[in-house]
Amino acid sequence: MHLAKRMEHIKPSPTLAVDAKAKALKAQGVDVVGFGAGEPDFDTPDHIKQAAIKALHEGFTKYTPAGGTEELKAAVCEKFKKDNGLVYSPAEILISCGAKHSLYNIFQALLDPGDEVIIPAPYWVSYPDMVYLAGGVPVIITAGEREGFKITPEMLAATITSRTKAFILNSPSNPTGAAYTREELEGIAEVLKKTAVLVISDEIYEKIIYDNLVAHSIVTVAPELRDRAIIVNGVSKTYAMTGWRIGYAAGPKHIIAAMTNIQSQSTSNPTSIAQKAALAALTGPQDFITTMNTEFDRRRRYMVERLNNIPGIHCAMPAGAFYTFPSIAQLCGAQGNGKVITDADAFAAYLLDTVNVAVVSGSAFGAPTNIRLSYATSFETIVKGIDRIEQAVRALA
Ligand SMILES: *Cc1c(COP(=O)(O)O)cnc(C)c1O
Repeated sequence: MHLAKRMEHIKPSPTLAVDAKAKALKAQGVDVVGFGAGEPDFDTPDHIKQAAIKALHEGFTKYTPAGGTEELKAAVCEKFKKDNGLVYSPAEILISCGAKHSLYNIFQALLDPGDEVIIPAPYWVSYPDMVYLAGGVPVIITAGEREGFKITPEMLAATITSRTKAFILNSPSNPTGAAYTREELEGIAEVLKKTAVLVISDEIYEKIIYDNLVAHSIVTVAPELRDRAIIVNGVSKTYAMTGWRIGYAAGPKHIIAAMTNIQSQSTSNPTSIAQKAALAALTGPQDFITTMNTEFDRRRRYMVERLNNIPGIHCAMPAGAFYTFPSIAQLCGAQGNGKVITDADAFAAYLLDTVNVAVVSGSAFGAPTNIRLSYATSFETIVKGIDRIEQAVRALA
């Protein structure tokens, strides 16, 4: 049986694959250090779990409206008002099975065959595949380390064509941790204002940011874009709730309605008790975030300093999220374990084969000479893993 044509470009998420491989080796008793984690290593705060348990006991175990409960939508509206100074009504909100699902619904609702979506690289692995699945064409603009991994207004302007339907902004970014400043967002917004391009702002790492920086929403910075902007966010990263699968989108009513219809014909509502947990996350105490960020920050500084002390590796300081994205370009061409390190794929394989360290190759993110290391893992693990990477790099000839 032939698979549908749309499957041609689709691959399994490589970040989840690295994590799975490391876990499989671990299960065989191999002492693997995994830097692949795409989720906080903290446990979901107890008051959030208690809300789900209460919901279970109270029998809140049936279908809810497909687009989410009214109380959770109201809490999301309140979050936008409080954190972003944005006024949305519940009809402009969709609750999904994770932010990923909101993004998926956006592309399904918006794209006709051939519609272009501009994606700055390095990008989150799922964007191009989700665009392909909807029949669209991803158009990649690359911002390297020299640009701080951030595109400029000029780069964006030069990439927009009559076929451009949307532009994806992800700040702070997975995989680079780069965060756009207010001024940079203003510059991007100026370009968008002169066009009809829709902006999709993935703000999932909004609260995971360091050095007293603030992650601004492009819609807050440029309210003129509100009618053609969709903000995507969720509780996965901020509240260590990746397994609960609750994300949300805010945008123009007719787009949200279309996304809700897609959801009603595919998944129906996100899990009822997880919605109660997300409600507790958004409306309850927020001190957990500071505790988590303080620890992430300590690991971030340590990891960046150690990486920069390894000859041939260069690592920029990420502003947010929980990843470092060092360049290994200077190591390319070296010999290790009888093989030439041609790119990050080869380097990642070399690390796994020789010192049992799992990292994600940047090729999955559109950056073939970088690797992604997550610091959502214990400090001791980071020390051990970087020691091993250093040893492996020093062994290169
Ligand atoms: C983790 C992640 C998501 C998806 O989060 P879920 O809410 O768990 O689906 C979306 N975008 C980026 C950039 C991410 O890193």
